[in-house]
Amino acid sequence: MAKNKYLISILALIIVFAGVLAGCGSSSKDDSKSDSANSGAKSGETKNLTFMFRGGPDEQKAYTAVIKKFEEDHPGVKVKIVTTTADQYATKLKASIAGHSVPDVFYYDPGDLRAYVNSGVLADITQYVEKSSIDINNIWPYGVNFYRYDGSVTGQGNIYGLPKDVGPFALGYNKTMFEKAGIALPDKDKPYTWDEFIKVNQELTKDTNGDGKIDQFGTGFNVNWMLQSFVWSNGADWLDSTKTKVTIDDPKFAEALQYFADMQNVYHITPSVQEAQTLDTYQRWMKGEMAFFPVGPWDMSTYEKLPFEYDLIPMPAGSTGKPATWLGSLGIGVSADSKYQSDAAELVMYLTASKEGMEQLVAAKVQIPNLIDMAKTWAADTSTKPANKEEFLQVVNEYGRPIPGTQTYNAEWYNLFFTDIQPVIDGKVTAADYVKSEQPKMQKLLDKAIEQEQKSKK
Ligand code: CA
Repeated sequence: MAKNKYLISILALIIVFAGVLAGCGSSSKDDSKSDSANSGAKSGETKNLTFMFRGGPDEQKAYTAVIKKFEEDHPGVKVKIVTTTADQYATKLKASIAGHSVPDVFYYDPGDLRAYVNSGVLADITQYVEKSSIDINNIWPYGVNFYRYDGSVTGQGNIYGLPKDVGPFALGYNKTMFEKAGIALPDKDKPYTWDEFIKVNQELTKDTNGDGKIDQFGTGFNVNWMLQSFVWSNGADWLDSTKTKVTIDDPKFAEALQYFADMQNVYHITPSVQEAQTLDTYQRWMKGEMAFFPVGPWDMSTYEKLPFEYDLIPMPAGSTGKPATWLGSLGIGVSADSKYQSDAAELVMYLTASKEGMEQLVAAKVQIPNLIDMAKTWAADTSTKPANKEEFLQVVNEYGRPIPGTQTYNAEWYNLFFTDIQPVIDGKVTAADYVKSEQPKMQKLLDKAIEQEQKSKK
């Protein structure tokens, strides 16, 4: 499902990093890489680049078209495209790293940056970006900074890639359902309080055909993607500011997690596990049988065909009174082993920062514009769906945050939280008990990640 795109990357980090450490695989290319790097092609010779990425059918189609245009504009450069589905990407990239056959240009998760730089997988493309005509100040700084690393901290220093996109995770609602029920539409400028959110969901959760079974629900949130919003807007977090301490054993955190679980177990506005087995929540949303569902920019092409009107609003606000959500990103980097680093960097810039490349990708409705000036024009047009595209930009500019697992050397500690969480969601364990018992286990894994990072620098 589309919602998984960033989690898969986080999981990939662990797998890939394990591969790098183990040093598995052997390669005949291994010895020649430093000689050939950056030597470029002799005149008249075709420079063959490989670009590996992932995405749904609409995204693959859009990127293939942009690559074709790139080739037209860059005679002598040919790009071989390797695409995979989101689930297969991690395995494929891992295999290519282990086999020392990393594609010239490839997607990577910002959480992988430090491990990839420290192990020599990623090329430093600072010089190419600085020499180019692109205006880096016109790309979302949040996205650009994800791919900077000074050898000690990320967010500053040399450039090891550019953002393919930034992915603001917003809340969508079924406008048609509200209108049919005669309920006032949500305010795009004023988030629901948690109490208001429960109340409106109860009004919309119904047995519409009178057979005794509920067939229209308020929410159906996946804990992996939606809990962050509730925790953060309640003033809690997974990590402290030094990113060395797991802080889930905070009463504000437990309160948010309990609220999340209660949507199913106490308020019954979310399908039960049994009900979700009959028809999962994504399918229910797609059929028009769910009031609220998260929406990322990559969903826009699919949601064009929804059998109802939808729009975006802020996430409900907890005790801070402010909405919160995560803002993902995927980077496009150049292999340190690429023979044609200058051309590979050129392709990265074409895909991420050129007006001609970006216009095609935005028209395909698979992302928000990477270029700030283009994004403003795009959001101002309320005649295209969703009308309140401005919400995406507000997430980017005002209230989006990185996923905690991408903030540390690896995400094992963070993933454990979600691996163990089902009993809380099912109402068998209280949130207060869970955070107390889970914190030490997660802290242990985080300590291990910090230790691994120190070792990798030696
Ligand atoms: Ca029914």
